[in-house]
Amino acid sequence: MNNSCFSQFQPLAAIATTPQSASILQHLHSNLELELWLPQSLEGTENTRFYQTNLSEHLTNIWHEYRAFVFCLATGAVVRLIAPLIESKATDPAVVVIDAQGRFVISLCSGHQGGADLLAQLIAQQIGAQSIITGASDSLRLPKIDLLGLPYGWRKGDGDWTGVMAAIAKNQTVQIIQEVGSTLWQQNLPDGHPFYFGFPEANQQFQPQGRIWISATQRRFASNSDFPKVQWHPRVLWIGIGCERGTSAQLIETAITDTLQKYHLSSKAIAGIATIDLKADEVGILELCQSWNLPLRTFSAQQLSPIDIPNPSEIVQQEVGTPSVAEAAAILASNTDNSLIVAKQIIKLPHQSGAVTVAIAQPEQEYIGRQGKLYLVGIGPGSLEQITPAAKTAIIQADVVIGYSLYLDLIKPLLRPEQIIESFPITQEKQRAQRSRELAQWGLTVAVISSGDCGIYGMAGLVLEELQAEDWDGKNPVVEVFPGISALQAAAARVGAPLMHDFCAISLSDLLTPWQVIQKRLEAAAQGDFVTAIYNPRSQKRTQQIVTAQEIFLKYRRNDTPVALVSSAYRLNETINITTLKEMLKHPIDMLTIIIIGNSSTRRHTDWVITPRGYLGFDG
Ligand code: SAH
Repeated sequence: MNNSCFSQFQPLAAIATTPQSASILQHLHSNLELELWLPQSLEGTENTRFYQTNLSEHLTNIWHEYRAFVFCLATGAVVRLIAPLIESKATDPAVVVIDAQGRFVISLCSGHQGGADLLAQLIAQQIGAQSIITGASDSLRLPKIDLLGLPYGWRKGDGDWTGVMAAIAKNQTVQIIQEVGSTLWQQNLPDGHPFYFGFPEANQQFQPQGRIWISATQRRFASNSDFPKVQWHPRVLWIGIGCERGTSAQLIETAITDTLQKYHLSSKAIAGIATIDLKADEVGILELCQSWNLPLRTFSAQQLSPIDIPNPSEIVQQEVGTPSVAEAAAILASNTDNSLIVAKQIIKLPHQSGAVTVAIAQPEQEYIGRQGKLYLVGIGPGSLEQITPAAKTAIIQADVVIGYSLYLDLIKPLLRPEQIIESFPITQEKQRAQRSRELAQWGLTVAVISSGDCGIYGMAGLVLEELQAEDWDGKNPVVEVFPGISALQAAAARVGAPLMHDFCAISLSDLLTPWQVIQKRLEAAAQGDFVTAIYNPRSQKRTQQIVTAQEIFLKYRRNDTPVALVSSAYRLNETINITTLKEMLKHPIDMLTIIIIGNSSTRRHTDWVITPRGYLGFDG
């Protein structure tokens, strides 16, 4: 199966040298896409590749072909193997080591930028092992500042990154000056974090020991500066281009770099290029977009003409049917009014024909440049043990985790300091669905969590409905649903095997379903002799429904039909009452209770509830 949570590490190589370690990696292999390399001597294993040379030579050959390596080998051996190959933490692949018993997953090298820390955590969840991360910011529960902007597509600029990270590790004050880009990362900083936001008041004594600029400006830091500084560049600049047919990529590039330089803007802050649709096949523009890896947005003359711009041109109007290309296209691409920050510049080169016009618009929201993903995740009834490894992986990998605060608390140990955590009150399901769609459409990976299974009275349906209403094409954002153990399974497991025969689930909440419909289904379930799991049985305001439900069931089932009331299954304050249909309302029932009403053959045996698979006496 291809688990998309690992896509950022693809291609991924796994290397083992003994049958035991090979089998640990084989197990991983069945859950995610990796290339398993084994020595020739272990031949006979399926889905693997074999290396002919010694491992050191082999590794040298394949080192640049993979984004990540997982070794199931002694750490010492791995250190010796990779030592001659490692170059820089900006470019080295992630290296993760698993011990031969599969108990520990160690992030060895390229923990931050290479993503080894995250990969180690994801693999640990897959194989039920402990991840070992030794980076300093991890222990402080602070976001790693060299990863800070990655979810939002920011680009890392110049500066003394090691110096600023060292200051943070020592808990020294680091000033943050954020001029553009999302501030979502600031939402979940732990108490006592070392960041100081903005500029101090004139009368305030303040001496930072590090500074992080988050801006579109290109800053040059003096090497003898008294404290380390770094800069992140959110991609907020839409470059509008107008040019004559046949203009060279070189002239266009010069025009853009000259303009950026004149206004002290960083080329790393460019979101993309915008122009008129007549230029969609302009070779120079296409070449530039390709070599700078930028998107091209084009607009028709009809779209461009009505845009309010400072420098309309009669000549351009006559030629292409709009008074502005560069300015209007930049504004349109930025999707925001009043976003123009650099009005039309006309650039020519001394010995070249043609001219290029450049204008720059800057919207509020940065361009992420990735396809968003929505993970709809069921976290099971409550304890971390009851979450599937796949669901844990999805939660750990997500940029944003959205859910009801109680459920976010339940999964707290899985959350990373870099993640954006958005908790909503229990009633705001629709807002949660809307917010998740917006963030995923923007380009983030969003995990929306539900208790139990996300598709059983959970968030999955709401989010998909929300997408459908927005004309979703089924692909973008990518949606993946991660099933969880629903309350009816959890409760059944706590009392034995009450769901062994045909059963159904009915929610008594009439918030979204008319009460007449619920009543009709209760009647049908009771009459049809289904074992029935009742969700949302009673809230503070809604108390009558469960009384009616009991009356309906009593019409068709004996007074002594076994009923299990399970509250907060698999959570700290779990309570279980096994009672009868007649007596059930004498016990506490609330919104954390699920009720399982037996069918006509369900029995109680000591503290257990059993629904026989076949009718008594039938031995076919
Ligand atoms: N998606 C969830 C159901 C959400 S509806 C699932 O699949 O389980 C909320 C209702 O689920 C609660 O009112 C209660 O009836 C039931 N419920 C959820 N978690 C529970 C738990 N741990 N123990 C008992 N009932 C639970």
